[in-house]
Amino acid sequence: MSIETPPQKSSRVVILGGGPGGYEAALVAHRLGADVTVVERNGLGGAAVLTDVVPSKTLIATAEWMTNAEQGAELGVRRGESRPADVASEHFVDLSVVNARVRSLATAQSADIRSRLEREGVRVVIGEGRLDGPSTVVVDGEDGTERLDAHVVLLALGTTPRVLSTALPDGERILTWTQLYNLEEIPKHLIVVGSGVTGAEFAGAYHALGADVTLVSSRDRVLPGEDADAAELIEGVFRSRGMRVESRMRAEAAERTADGVAVTLSDGRVIEGSHVLFAVGSIPSTDGIGLAEAGVELTESGHVRVDRVSRTTARGVYAAGDCTGVLPLASVAAMQGRVAMSHALGDAVSPIKTRNVAANIFTAPEIATVGYSEKQLQEDGAKYVTATLPLARNPRAKMQEMHDGFVKLFAHPDAGIVLGGVIVAPRASELIFPITLAVSHRLTVDDVADSFTIYPSLSGSIAEVARMLHPRHP
Ligand SMILES: Cc1cc2nc3c(=O)[nH]c(=O)nc-3n(C[C@H](O)[C@H](O)[C@H](O)COP(=O)(O)OP(=O)(O)OC[C@H]3O[C@@H](n4cnc5c(N)ncnc54)[C@H](O)[C@@H]3O)c2cc1C
Repeated sequence: MSIETPPQKSSRVVILGGGPGGYEAALVAHRLGADVTVVERNGLGGAAVLTDVVPSKTLIATAEWMTNAEQGAELGVRRGESRPADVASEHFVDLSVVNARVRSLATAQSADIRSRLEREGVRVVIGEGRLDGPSTVVVDGEDGTERLDAHVVLLALGTTPRVLSTALPDGERILTWTQLYNLEEIPKHLIVVGSGVTGAEFAGAYHALGADVTLVSSRDRVLPGEDADAAELIEGVFRSRGMRVESRMRAEAAERTADGVAVTLSDGRVIEGSHVLFAVGSIPSTDGIGLAEAGVELTESGHVRVDRVSRTTARGVYAAGDCTGVLPLASVAAMQGRVAMSHALGDAVSPIKTRNVAANIFTAPEIATVGYSEKQLQEDGAKYVTATLPLARNPRAKMQEMHDGFVKLFAHPDAGIVLGGVIVAPRASELIFPITLAVSHRLTVDDVADSFTIYPSLSGSIAEVARMLHPRHP
């Protein structure tokens, strides 16, 4: 039996920004009976679809193939009859083809999202929007200026890449991640500045695609803030594959040379490359669009201040996604948007619990995490036990010559409740879900250990680590 939500036709909802924070919310609001307009200045799907998630993961699909091909020789794959060839060396990547595929996939997905919204009855207005008070959005669009009055406004504005004034991107050699997809050839030597998630993903991917890569990291190790063992493992893998990592070093400036770029480091050295990619964070798109005047409070970093049901400080104005600075993930943006609309339109709502969010870093191997991290547990002074199993001990991993990776769980020592987990493995993004279920539903390590896993399978290691954590009662 399905229960129909009573329509609330009188509610006019205007959503500023058509990324995952905005378009998912539009669908929910429409389903709840509202009259919905989405205002978007670029394309539906937002940065997530046009420049960030979809393009980067499509590029990484090719990089992943190259990484797998490298292992072919270990698995006994040969080309030709007698020549024991290095399989990877038989292949090269045509970046113009890869990038054409990336662009066409992103454009098609953006068009799909637009037609889905329109099919369901959501109005889409292309143009630059701003607030004129908390209940009016003014749009400068192709057909002139339009005023949209609303009972509920959702800000889903996203962010743009941070740029340094001493290294202004030119879109050819000095690049942000949004400018990578017009490259026709693999950079000879790509300098990647920034070793957070974005920097690490692109450094790994371009290295696998055939570029020489230097990764400039301002911290002791790459991926600061991530599980320390996972970050150490990835840095080790990067170095062992031949990537140069400049640790505890900042890039102060970058300029074009006759045939490439020169990047000045904080110790005064200048390193030369063919291209430089800056992945040094993002700036929320909250400036100059009437937010403060409408009573929407911003944090010091310029993000929109929200509570756990996505309300801002202005009545009737909600915010979702990266512009709130809660967690820069498409899945979180979408959840915040859905929660905002459910709350605004009087549907049942549960506040966002960021503790349950699963996240993945698409390096090779991938790093997937969920629940409490070890750092959070230590900072909270929480009681916990932990166990780790290297991937190299897993039978399936042995068969597939997977050497680098592990499964790690954190659990309460007495109750055995699973508090969090880390998986470092190829396709860890696909393996983390059982741990997400355990964390979300407060399952115990025994619940996990007593469930059947396939033999042989990588997920077998999840059950085995859970078994290692069986609470010992005196
Ligand atoms: C390289 C990279 C890779 C990533 N990979 C992943 C990943 O694999 N998985 C994941 O979960 N997350 C990933 N992310 C994060 C993810 O992209 C963001 O969390 C997500 O895009 C946030 O969605 P959003 O709706 O808040 O913003 P966006 O997707 O940025 O959308 C905001 C939209 O608002 C529009 N807009 C802004 N201001 C106005 C205005 N005044 N008028 C009209 N329109 C406006 C913009 O044009 C934009 O289209 C990645 C990020 C980067 C940088």
